[in-house]
Amino acid sequence: MASYFVACDAQSDGAHAVHDRNLCPPSCFPPDATNEYLGEFTEMAQAVAVARLRFRPARRCRETQGTVALRSKAPPPLLPALTPPRP
Ligand SMILES: [Zn+2]
Repeated sequence: MASYFVACDAQSDGAHAVHDRNLCPPSCFPPDATNEYLGEFTEMAQAVAVARLRFRPARRCRETQGTVALRSKAPPPLLPALTPPRP
């Protein structure tokens, strides 16, 4: 099960993106909280169906497309590693 959120603000094409708490990058969850919690679902399709009841049209966030197989993979670091300064 994963937590899903739908963006309250529509994208440029009018669709509301559905975000997966486990798959989406932090940029999908801005601190000013424009996402609405949908609930816990076993797959994105269920979350999108619920989102469409409230925001239509809605669709899965593009950040999650094709990434289901990578769910177990650790996310990359947010910042590149800093090289230590030379003495
Ligand atoms: Zn997202």
